[in-house]
Amino acid sequence: MFDFHMHSTVSCDGHDTPEKMVAAARKMGLKEICFTDHVDDDPLGDSSHLQYTLAEYEAGYGHLTDDQVKLRFGMEFGLLSNNQPLLAQRSRERNYDFIIGSVHFADNVDVYFKEYWKGKTVLQAEQTYLQTTLDCVTAHEDFDILGHLTFLSKARVHPTHIPVNLETHKEIVAEIFKVLIAKGKGIEINTSGVDRCGAYLPAPEYLRLFKDLGGNIVTVGSDAHTHDRVGQYCFEACRIVQDIFGHVCTFENRQPIFHKL
Ligand SMILES: [Zn+2]
Ligand SMILES: [Zn+2]
Repeated sequence: MFDFHMHSTVSCDGHDTPEKMVAAARKMGLKEICFTDHVDDDPLGDSSHLQYTLAEYEAGYGHLTDDQVKLRFGMEFGLLSNNQPLLAQRSRERNYDFIIGSVHFADNVDVYFKEYWKGKTVLQAEQTYLQTTLDCVTAHEDFDILGHLTFLSKARVHPTHIPVNLETHKEIVAEIFKVLIAKGKGIEINTSGVDRCGAYLPAPEYLRLFKDLGGNIVTVGSDAHTHDRVGQYCFEACRIVQDIFGHVCTFENRQPIFHKL
């Protein structure tokens, strides 16, 4: 089984060393994992603390090997509608296996912060986040999959924690998917929402819509920032993806590999 989204201490917000994360993956019986540390970008502030340096990355992973768990090395890049040059530069600094493009900022603030929610109804907060996501996937080319669509549902400051309803936003979600599919990009099912807002990010009905529109690249990731969350709900999520698509994807050298489980 696979977990293609996790953060070690190489990330600004990761708590455990790469070695500890690998040990947890072994314990969980995972076949293959990918480290996807943050290169995030604050549209208004200093981003240096949100981005690892290449030297930090190599210090963390340069000598990391394991004889049980296949290790892949990637990045989670924070998409803005105008930071394509940064992604172009960072994606080519080494041979990454996999790049997740994620939307963390909308209206120039992190959707995790109270400030984003101030003066917005939940519906407006969702609409702004989805429109930003559409702008970002339209603007960018140098990523492989869109990370944790519907991510804002798990923000600690979310007033209701009710997951983004597909029926309410079907039109724009379909637009996002059509752009991704036309560019040969995929999506992930991120399991970090299960305990936080009771839903995968995004929920299986989104995956079905992605498939109906012609999408076929889907990865599974825990988004673990601590060793105890490595692989959490990934077996379940892999089964969901397998049932809908008939395969689950991993990546190597930025190319998808299709696994029939
Ligand atoms: Zn993220
Ligand atoms: Zn993440």
